[in-house]
Amino acid sequence: MSGLLYVVATPIGNLADASPRAVEALREADLIACEDTRTSRTLLARHGIAARTVALHEHNERAMSARLVADLQAGRRVALITDAGTPGLSDPGALLVEAAHRAGIRVVPVPGPSAAVAAFSAAGFAATRVVFAGFLPAARAARRKALAALDRALPHIFYEAPHRIAETLADLAETFGAAREIVIARELTKKFEEIARMPLGETAAWLGAAPHREQGEFVLVLGPGEIVQADALAEGQRVLAALLEVLPASEAARIAAKLTGAPRRELYRFALDRKGTDRAR
Ligand code: SAM
Repeated sequence: MSGLLYVVATPIGNLADASPRAVEALREADLIACEDTRTSRTLLARHGIAARTVALHEHNERAMSARLVADLQAGRRVALITDAGTPGLSDPGALLVEAAHRAGIRVVPVPGPSAAVAAFSAAGFAATRVVFAGFLPAARAARRKALAALDRALPHIFYEAPHRIAETLADLAETFGAAREIVIARELTKKFEEIARMPLGETAAWLGAAPHREQGEFVLVLGPGEIVQADALAEGQRVLAALLEVLPASEAARIAAKLTGAPRRELYRFALDRKGTDRAR
């Protein structure tokens, strides 16, 4: 009989967000690896789960993974959980999962809450790509350097600690400009949840509007930058080039604009230039 590793997402605040399948996996487990056994006790007690727990955290993950793989190889079912949310996402877990794969153990994810996904789903930024950037460096100089290196076109999801939230928002405003939009997702799924979308230039006033606003847990979702339009233009020009082989400039520009969202006028100008260049060849 071979073991099984469940990777189980747990609530990020509201215990009712534990899925029936998560509870079932925890019930079935012979052993539950918790980031902090005391923190997870509340969730386990709520569902009457009395399985043996072991602590697996950033300081013992490698050694504990080796021990757990031995349990898995002996045919045990192990469930991996963290204090909140999805294991391995700015949380321990990846080393155990990697060790399980290498040992040929079946890994079964039990998806569910994650602060990053919850915040992004409530942010309302229409984008086909998004960067999960996790925690920024704690030191200000390193944080600013990290921000300057980000892809300015894409939306980004950050986790941030309450004592750094004001500084980080100020650094974001300095790097991306006061007009760029951000969503501050505070205390998600909890009693005092707040989700506010505003330009970066307004975040200091928002934070200062109530003393509790700098407390709790935060996810920041930075909206996409204007370079998205540059991306759209590049995509528009690519589509246009293909259409120009079979259509006149105005028709090709109209269709390429419709397909890609790039401005029709610019595409038309580009099409005329291109036709002129082609004729000159
Ligand atoms: N793996 C977890 C997940 O999938 O959500 C994230 C773990 S990370 C160590 C913890 C960070 O997630 C917090 O510092 C905060 O930035 C964010 N976070 C967790 N729960 C949250 C909540 N209820 N509301 C807002 N942010 C939260």
